[in-house]
Amino acid sequence: MLIVEDEREIRRFVRIALEAEAFSCVEVDSVSRALIEAGTRRPELIVLDLGLPDGDGIDFIRELRQWSRTPVIVLSARANERDKVDALDAGADDYLVKPFGVGELLARVRAQMRRAGATTTQSDAVTTFGNVVVDRVRRVVTRGGDNVHLTPIEYRLLTLLMSQPDRVLTHRHLLREVWGPSHVDDSHYLRVHMGNLRKKIEDEPSRPRWLKSEAGVGYRFVPQ
Ligand code: CA
Repeated sequence: MLIVEDEREIRRFVRIALEAEAFSCVEVDSVSRALIEAGTRRPELIVLDLGLPDGDGIDFIRELRQWSRTPVIVLSARANERDKVDALDAGADDYLVKPFGVGELLARVRAQMRRAGATTTQSDAVTTFGNVVVDRVRRVVTRGGDNVHLTPIEYRLLTLLMSQPDRVLTHRHLLREVWGPSHVDDSHYLRVHMGNLRKKIEDEPSRPRWLKSEAGVGYRFVPQ
């Protein structure tokens, strides 16, 4: 694991938490060191602060993504929603809002490790979560054994989110993929269709279990 953070306290906190789970860690405090360590050590996962003394964590992600798919979890300050969105759009996989607890950090790390190990099963034709079954070959969705009638847009939204479980997909990303590049700012489309999709899929649409909102940022499919 590579920890990129210029605040010593946070770096230490993250390292102790990860080492307690038997992950070995390397700490760096700058973008330039991060690029060197990411290239030479090939870490399994990178925990990345965005505000670094010699540059922006988002630039690091863009650079990294040209040659590596290593999962990146961004550490962000709550005030900076724009940063979260930019980081995810640049290729980060998830983010944690400071201050965060050990439990939250480890849950996010485990989810990313699970994703990284599950890439071969992601293309499986049939996915089950709770009492919902999605068959991507037959394009059939059932809930509790009953057919669920999804519109083409709802189906596309669901399968897009399912294709990257545990990953936050930003509003702009979803709008671009479902409605096209000219609609990336039409977030009301997304809100309406996501609301309808949840009514069909979720037991409690107002407290979704599978299709989670990340306020101001995007949506995440949580398969368990
Ligand atoms: Ca910082």
